[in-house]
Amino acid sequence: CGIVGYIGREEAAPILLDGLSRLEYRGYDSAGIAVWSEDEGLKVVKAKGRLRVLSGLVEGGGAVRGTVGLGHTRWATHGEPSDVNSHPHVSRSGHIAVVHNGIIENYVEIKEFLQSRGVAFASQTDTEVVAQLLEYYYRGDILEALTKVLHRIEGAYALGVVCSDCPDKLIAARKDSPLILGVGEGFNFLASDVTAVIKYTREVCYLDDGEIAVLTADGIQVMSHPYLQPIEKERHHVDWE
Ligand code: GLU
Repeated sequence: CGIVGYIGREEAAPILLDGLSRLEYRGYDSAGIAVWSEDEGLKVVKAKGRLRVLSGLVEGGGAVRGTVGLGHTRWATHGEPSDVNSHPHVSRSGHIAVVHNGIIENYVEIKEFLQSRGVAFASQTDTEVVAQLLEYYYRGDILEALTKVLHRIEGAYALGVVCSDCPDKLIAARKDSPLILGVGEGFNFLASDVTAVIKYTREVCYLDDGEIAVLTADGIQVMSHPYLQPIEKERHHVDWE
């Protein structure tokens, strides 16, 4: 029920875990992170249960290294709370990872469409269709694939996407679920809530419905769906404690 994404120069895993701990108040039944590194590609660690279960796995399972990644706390709507149904969800090749808050209303139809084309699903969630459909449409440009996916899905979403072909980018999109961007120097965040990023930056942008954001370590670009027209976003300084 909360998402956080980091791209910058520090190790992402501890920052993501910290961000998730600040979203705990929203309630959740499982949690997970995906971090990209040159050596290992996208590494996903996720588990049903409290955040400390996830933290234990991250610390116990050796290093999850890398400076770009996504984190998620889940409040299950489709598919029971379980390790496989936890987010992030990855496409079948393991090249695209997705976190999602909300509900994809027409996921059954999309799942059947992809299954009829030989795509095997790992989970029972509505969210996995986003990861698999992204890969289905992907021809080397993740933004182009995303616009096709957004055209096809119905429902509510705050999405975070990372693709191992362009690990210098984090992508965010929203419709009817909250999503903010945290603007730093040499790093940037996406998150469900300001509380997840406030330790690192107090400069934020509020994404609106129908907007897509591309984050790099050094900048943020916001665009409209579906034509990717640039949008000038107002920045806000958060001064509450
Ligand atoms: N509908 C998705 C799921 O059940 C996301 C739930 C959430 O917002 O945490 O996996």
